[in-house]
Amino acid sequence: MNIYVLLKKTFDTEEKINVSNGQIEEDGAEFIINPYDEYAVEEAITQRDEHGGEVTVITVGDEDSEKQLRTALAMGADKAVLINTEEDDGDQFTTSKILEAYLEDKEADLILAGNVAIDEASGQVGPRVAEALGIPYVTTITGLKIDGESVTIEKDVEGDVEVVETSLPLLVTCQQGLNEPRYPSLPGIMKAKKKPLEELDIDDLDLDEDEMEPKTKTIDISLPPEKEAGRILEGEIDDQVKELVSLLKDEKKAL
Ligand SMILES: Cc1cc2nc3c(=O)[nH]c(=O)nc-3n(C[C@H](O)[C@H](O)[C@H](O)COP(=O)(O)OP(=O)(O)OC[C@H]3O[C@@H](n4cnc5c(N)ncnc54)[C@H](O)[C@@H]3O)c2cc1C
Repeated sequence: MNIYVLLKKTFDTEEKINVSNGQIEEDGAEFIINPYDEYAVEEAITQRDEHGGEVTVITVGDEDSEKQLRTALAMGADKAVLINTEEDDGDQFTTSKILEAYLEDKEADLILAGNVAIDEASGQVGPRVAEALGIPYVTTITGLKIDGESVTIEKDVEGDVEVVETSLPLLVTCQQGLNEPRYPSLPGIMKAKKKPLEELDIDDLDLDEDEMEPKTKTIDISLPPEKEAGRILEGEIDDQVKELVSLLKDEKKAL
């Protein structure tokens, strides 16, 4: 089976993020594989081990994205492709167009993406790529069974499970609950250094500049407002209750 994983490098949201002039500062920031893409890599490896074939991870990014691709190779993917973009603006449309141009002649059986990227979180890239390639897609999956060309998928629907049947070729976006992504092992890390990592730029794809013009522009990014300090009410319980009701009613307008 010819399996592809769309993988995005994101900021590590466990780390402090600095914003200046409406942009996230990249200097000194830590980057990781988008956590939903780890489910995609794990599922791709599991399906390959069951059905045979090859897993290729692809990133549209810059040369620093090699680190996340090597991690996916260390987890067990077979090959990586880095599509290096030198432009400094692009949106979900641009990214999808680039991925479409790369994938259109690859005869992928299964493409796995994350449900959303934890930074910009539009959840658009997977469905856009599937639409462009003219293949079915199912989003936020938590279970995947492949039997020949037939595919049975489970989706978490607010705590209930929805079962969907479809067929290959297919694109799915992966949600927490699908699997437990493995940590790269030491032998995996050693092997990953020798696995193929192809680096392409836009000129290597059959894509004109005007075909990938972004459709949207991010105007501003800001941090949430600082939390106000908490307030501790004191005195007799009856007085505290009265004060609390008055605060909720008059000050916070919550009642
Ligand atoms: C030329 C160019 C320049 C860009 N410049 C900037 C910039 O200056 N600042 C900035 O913040 N962003 C930039 N981007 C990134 C872009 O704006 C979006 O962040 C990106 O398209 C993903 O959107 P999202 O985070 O909403 O992903 P979502 O749609 O939420 O992601 C869902 C899933 O799609 C897949 N996916 C998403 N992005 C990629 C990717 N890049 N490669 C492979 N798979 C992916 C992953 O599987 C991911 O889990 C640029 C993109 C391009 C193409």
